[in-house]
Amino acid sequence: MVGEMEKTIANLSSMRTHYCGHLGEDDIGKRVSVCGWVAHRREHGEYLAFVDLRDYTGIIQCVVEGSIDVRPEWVLCITGTLRHRPVGTENEYLSTGMVEITDCELEVLSKASPPPFPVEDRIEADESLRMRYRFVDLRRPKMQSNLRLRSALLQSLRRGMVDRGFCEVDTPLLWTPTPEGAREFVVPSRLRRGEFYVLPQSPQIAKQLLMVSGIDRYFQIAKCLRDEDLRADRQFEFTQLDIEASFVEAEDIRNIVADVVLEAIEAVTGSDIGPVGVLTWKEAIDRFGTDKPDTRGGMELTDLTSCFAGTSARALSAPCVKAIVVPANHGDSPLSRNMLDGLVEHAKSLGGKGLAWFRVTRGEDGSLQLESPLVKFLDDEEQGGMVDVCHADSGDIILVVADEWRTACEVLGGIRVQLLNEVLLGISNGSGKSDTVVVPDYVSDASTASKERSLLWVTDFPLFDGVDDDGNFISAHHPFTMPHPDDVGMLEDNPLNVRSLAYDLVLDGWELGSGSIRIHDPDIQRNIFRLLGLSMEAASARFGFLLDAFDYGVPPHGGFAIGIDRLTALLAGEQSIRNVIAFPKTQTGYDPVTGAPKKLSPAVLSELGITVRSPHVGQ
Ligand code: ASP
Repeated sequence: MVGEMEKTIANLSSMRTHYCGHLGEDDIGKRVSVCGWVAHRREHGEYLAFVDLRDYTGIIQCVVEGSIDVRPEWVLCITGTLRHRPVGTENEYLSTGMVEITDCELEVLSKASPPPFPVEDRIEADESLRMRYRFVDLRRPKMQSNLRLRSALLQSLRRGMVDRGFCEVDTPLLWTPTPEGAREFVVPSRLRRGEFYVLPQSPQIAKQLLMVSGIDRYFQIAKCLRDEDLRADRQFEFTQLDIEASFVEAEDIRNIVADVVLEAIEAVTGSDIGPVGVLTWKEAIDRFGTDKPDTRGGMELTDLTSCFAGTSARALSAPCVKAIVVPANHGDSPLSRNMLDGLVEHAKSLGGKGLAWFRVTRGEDGSLQLESPLVKFLDDEEQGGMVDVCHADSGDIILVVADEWRTACEVLGGIRVQLLNEVLLGISNGSGKSDTVVVPDYVSDASTASKERSLLWVTDFPLFDGVDDDGNFISAHHPFTMPHPDDVGMLEDNPLNVRSLAYDLVLDGWELGSGSIRIHDPDIQRNIFRLLGLSMEAASARFGFLLDAFDYGVPPHGGFAIGIDRLTALLAGEQSIRNVIAFPKTQTGYDPVTGAPKKLSPAVLSELGITVRSPHVGQ
């Protein structure tokens, strides 16, 4: 899908008539000019050479007579006549493999040093080398296709927003602290020495101000900056499609976002992956053990609490007992004892006290039986009940965690993801923890991705995530999130059970974005600030300008933000968002191309009024 449009661009430029990869049998006999980089050069005797010229669309073979001096990655313009390749020399693996340019005039536009690694997808170069020479790495076909997929995605999302009456407004980068809860990047002010701007973690406050301004429907493809530790799915700066609308309810925003995202995915992959499912946060945790469920692959959590009420098995005596059934046909072979021990360790690393396992077998009398070190502590009723409730059969393995409800669910949710990853991807990094965006292989061919996907809304998140050391509640999203109207009465007595009007969009187990309806009632807002431990003075010092603006007439409003890097990575079948970002930073926040961040000269520092006490040494 991506790239179709370029084929129709006529008269490309005064230097070339065609892109290399677009030449085909229809052009035979034409005098053509192509420009690009030398992919390969092969000599045939003294007086004949083949030059494969590459641009982002592909490679064309050029037959050059006479001795030539060109080397890989030199930049050339070649003009010649397109002809059919001699019979027997066609290359069916190349889109231009039926044709070649002959009778060539060749102009060297620039010479090149030998590339640090071959510019080919099938050769795995070390990532640090690729990042150091990113400008060469981006020549590789896969990286070209990733950036173009990203571009097509952005165009489609933008069109989708405009078609729905959204107005694109760009908001400042030099800004004030935003309430997303991450560490912020600060920029010293030269004109107001000793004062600092903060780079926005999101345009959250700006877009809410725009609602007060009557913009009504706002969007922006926004750069957001958060000074957090970097991982494969996180960078300091990331791109969001940021949205806000007035006079809306949560469902209105969700419908708009779902339509626009589905349209964009269809535009770039050609497949319709709708409709979008909906799970409440509670259901998501209860059934999948995570607020980012990948609903593919089965192995939903089963509740065994009632089977073990009053059990004498200490390991299963807890407020909640949850299980997953690993079917007999999971993976290539049954889970071995070693693998089960590995899962027990993984459960502990996820915060569980342990993990009980039961192998289901068929006894000589034909009945189902359990094998496990724990069996001797369970009576027949408990054993039978577990097998029945789990609908288990011979060869299955039942994995059980007993704990508080949320811990039991989340530990098993982590085990489920681990098991699904092993089956879907055949990967395991030992600890079971993966810091890469795990993308099943089958996603990698975006253009034919009529594959099963799991796209769903998770709604009704708790308003608060917990309580900090000072006894203050912690916002699960940000302090402007509206409590669920049915739960406002619980704000005083039972705040941790209050739901919010917040929702996340989850694709294949990855959070694509989140949003909420915002508080526009000053009394509720004051109450939330109080629960968060923000005095009115502190709140007005940080967000006073927003609260002041609300005094001038604020419409009910809500919004959303979609992470473009992650969506592109999922659609491109990439495991790391670094592969869909032109110039990413390393895990230590270093830009290997430019060497940023760098020291500043004493003169610049003094102009800014900054003294550096212990400069960082090395990278
Ligand atoms: N500002 C939020 C974020 O960046 C999204 C939203 O609530 O609209 O995650």
